[in-house]
Amino acid sequence: RERAREILSSVEGRDDTRLGVEAMDLLDAYGIQTPDGDIVDAPAEALEVAEDIEGDVVMKIVSPDILHKSDIGGVKVGVPNEEVYDAYEDLVTRARNYQPDANIIGVQVQEMVDLDSGVETIVGMNRDPQFGPLLMFGLGGIFVEVLEDTTFRVAPVSESEAHEMTEEIDSAPLLRGARGRDPVDVAGVTETIQRLSQLVTDFPAILELDINPLVATPDGVQAVDVRLTVD
Ligand code: ADP
Ligand code: MG
Repeated sequence: RERAREILSSVEGRDDTRLGVEAMDLLDAYGIQTPDGDIVDAPAEALEVAEDIEGDVVMKIVSPDILHKSDIGGVKVGVPNEEVYDAYEDLVTRARNYQPDANIIGVQVQEMVDLDSGVETIVGMNRDPQFGPLLMFGLGGIFVEVLEDTTFRVAPVSESEAHEMTEEIDSAPLLRGARGRDPVDVAGVTETIQRLSQLVTDFPAILELDINPLVATPDGVQAVDVRLTVD
């Protein structure tokens, strides 16, 4: 909580209140798992981070002006160490082509999360003028807009309410291991919903927050991408 307060006060009064870099730290501070990695602003640093991570990495452009990174080719999945340098330059070039005056903070280098055994979900919050902080849970990734398979509760939620959310979406069977797949860590999803509920309850300055995707695998959950807007 203290750590979260520090992070939020460090961005107070900033012109652009859509947080990128700080958002991951904020989740961390509330015990929500995020993939290993870091945000860097030079290719050599990107390589250092990549070398500390086992296997290939994911690289993403970090800019408050680019909200949907993959739309502009700003996400590279499965990058081997040999390609980290070029990938870095390429990501920055793509961002510049998209918006020449974009404020580019750098590139995020992330551990790969196993999407094959996992399900991409989304956990979010936005403040409804009538109901207050509305928590949303649903299927994430590319399916979220197509299927609109989501469910809502007003924060704060109890453990059983959070658990209900994971049971009442149409795709719930996917989480519980449809078609011979191993069930994912539903308890981890439930816990994440509760932790997010606590975070937005503790900090009314958080106006909007989306974890998309929260990848749920049989071994746990990882908040792979987060977007947040503060007052
Ligand atoms: P954006 O939503 O801004 O396009 P994301 O960080 O959500 O950017 O990345 C887009 C997609 O790339 C994700 O939905 C996911 O399918 C894939 N992806 C992103 N990060 C990882 C990762 N660490 N491991 C595996 N796949 C990833
Ligand atoms: Mg995303």
